[in-house]
Amino acid sequence: MGRIELLQGDITKQEVDAIVNAANRGLLGGGGVDGAIHRAGGPAIREEARLLGGCETGDAKATTAGDLPANYVIHAVGPIWQGGDAGEAERLASCHRRALEVADELGCRTVAFPAISTGVYGFPVELAAKVALGTTHVELETHAGIEEVRFVLFSDADFQAFQQHLPS
Ligand code: ADP
Repeated sequence: MGRIELLQGDITKQEVDAIVNAANRGLLGGGGVDGAIHRAGGPAIREEARLLGGCETGDAKATTAGDLPANYVIHAVGPIWQGGDAGEAERLASCHRRALEVADELGCRTVAFPAISTGVYGFPVELAAKVALGTTHVELETHAGIEEVRFVLFSDADFQAFQQHLPS
C-alpha cells in the first residue's frame, strides 16, 4: 500500500507526478496556493483550465502542470467553512477522494497535496488534517498504483497539526 509523507515547504517545488491545487469553482486561479501554482506554472494551466467549465465543490479535475516540475495539476475544490454543520467535512473528504481517483486514472504514482480549505476558506486545520489524512489512508487501499501521497504544509503550525493526525 502507498505511504503518506509529511513535509513543510512549497508545493510548487515538488517533483511528483501530480500536485493538487486548492482551487475554487471557477478554476481560473485565485490567491494562496492557487495563485502560487498559476504563477510558477505559467499561462498553460489557465488556458487548459478554461476548457473544463469549472468544478463543483468536492470534485477535482486535472490540467497540465505547465512549467512546474510535476506532470499534472489536479484542481480540487474544497468547501468554505460555515461552522461545521453544512457538510464541510464530507465535502473535504470528497475532494481528496476525487483528486486521488483522478491521479490514479492518469497513472500518477506520486501525488502532493496542500492543506485544502485551511487558508482563505477557513476550515480548522486540526479537523482538516484528520479528514485529509484519514480519507487518504482509506483511498490508498483501493488505488494500488499510487505509491506516495505527500502533504506539503506551508506553516510550522499546519505541519504539526498534520503530524498529530498521521495514521499509524
Ligand atoms: P483555500 O482557499 O482552500 O483555503 P488557500 O490557498 O487559501 O486555500 O490555503 C490553503 C493552504 O495552502 C494554507 O494552509 C496556505 O498556507 C497553504 N499554502 C499557500 N501557499 C502554499 C504553497 N506555495 N505551498 C504549499 N501550501 C501553500
